[in-house]
Amino acid sequence: MNQHEDATHYEGRSAAGRKPKDPGPGKHLWIVTAAWAVTEPERSQDPNAQFLMDRENLITIAGPGCYKCELEWTPLVEKRYCRGSV
Ligand SMILES: [Zn+2]
Repeated sequence: MNQHEDATHYEGRSAAGRKPKDPGPGKHLWIVTAAWAVTEPERSQDPNAQFLMDRENLITIAGPGCYKCELEWTPLVEKRYCRGSV
């Protein structure tokens, strides 16, 4: 990840396949996801490619939800035992 003024660039392939650290059995792993429009998807084949991720091409932000059990956060879900896995 590189910071350039008001935009952030991410390497196209290096982040793919990473798994987050499991907080432990029964514990939720709360995340927020976001999606950006990509104009040149073929660039993902280049290991040195970077994607511009800024406000202009941001489509949506969703969450928080649990990465492990895929349930949306609510006060009730937060208190429940997480049955998902990383
Ligand atoms: Zn969970």
